Amino acid sequence: MKDETKLTHGGRSSGAHFGTVNTPVYRTSTILFPDYETLTTIKQPFVYGRRGTPTSRDLETLVADLEGGERTVLTPSGLSACTTAILSAVKAGDHILVTDGCYGPTRAFCDTILPRFGVEATYYDPLVGGEITRAFRENTVAVFLESPSSQSFEMQDVPTIAAACRARGIVTMMDNTWGTPLFFKPIAHGVDLSINAATKYLVGHADASVGTVTANAAQTEALTHLHGHFGTSIGGDDAYLTLRGLRTLSVRMRHQFESGLKVARFLRSRPEVARVLYPALEDDSGHAIFKRDYTGGAALFAFEIKPCDQEALRRLFDGLDLFGMGYSWGGYESLIVPSRMKRSVSVVPEGGPVLRVSIGLEDPDDLIADLAAGLDRLNG
Ligand SMILES: *Cc1c(COP(=O)(O)O)cnc(C)c1O
Repeated sequence: MKDETKLTHGGRSSGAHFGTVNTPVYRTSTILFPDYETLTTIKQPFVYGRRGTPTSRDLETLVADLEGGERTVLTPSGLSACTTAILSAVKAGDHILVTDGCYGPTRAFCDTILPRFGVEATYYDPLVGGEITRAFRENTVAVFLESPSSQSFEMQDVPTIAAACRARGIVTMMDNTWGTPLFFKPIAHGVDLSINAATKYLVGHADASVGTVTANAAQTEALTHLHGHFGTSIGGDDAYLTLRGLRTLSVRMRHQFESGLKVARFLRSRPEVARVLYPALEDDSGHAIFKRDYTGGAALFAFEIKPCDQEALRRLFDGLDLFGMGYSWGGYESLIVPSRMKRSVSVVPEGGPVLRVSIGLEDPDDLIADLAAGLDRLNG
């Protein structure tokens, strides 16, 4: 089955809910057992809210199928999906390698929480490729990838890194929020755990925070063990909203990707813009890997403005009509924020300010007009 058909037909327990097309929202903590025998043997499909409901189970099934994985677990945010994946692979005394381009809060978790449990994280250059082996230590147990990098958008050679890790028995996990399992499949490229901040494109409407972690067969037990004992689960409403968002993931993303390219090309043509950081553009340094591994991309990219003062930036931002100023991305509405990049070992733009945009479902020409007016205001 092709992905669009999975997105339409997967995760629907047809016949189980009086013929309703969609699995209803199950809001529950307690699930009752019909008799003593069933209660004491726990022999029924659903036993307690935290352990899953028909709504959350259907979502897990659909995401696992789309990811080509064995099992998916759901978490209350994208960040908790990242931390769940990491914790499933480490114990005291271990070392993990984390991409220098990871999402900021993932870095903060690695720097401030992991050391309390005797786990050390060090960072590698996202462009490292097969040279990652040089960073392996005796006690390296996991590598955390994210491609393209948050904010700076370098592409990683995921299959090469994953193969080098597998040869050494090192677990790989990848934050694939940008590609989504629609456009890049980490598990098929050799990664053990695929992570998604479903908050972004999967939910797609800026109305819920959800994370998913999908394991291949080898990592399923470690992942489900950690997730079960950690006690993270999501409510029925959020599971429903994620399933509902997934039904239109393909049409939304394909449309937004096309608009994103159009807006990116416009920005590149403007004299105020020093460069556009978007691997989907033909002349981006990450485009060869993008073309090799991805079938599409997110409408999320950044652009570097030629050096200017804060007052000029304020004029650009404050007059925007269509771009909202706010964090997150992947929703139907366009957003803009200044990028903040913290790096340990890799190089990021150091010229003028870098702005990150998420292109929504508006007409791209209207978005271009809004940005054009903003760049005119920047000039004074
Ligand atoms: C937003 C984001 C997350 C975290 O998702 P939340 O639901 O906001 O916790 C993780 N990784 C990436 C790449 C993100 O952009």
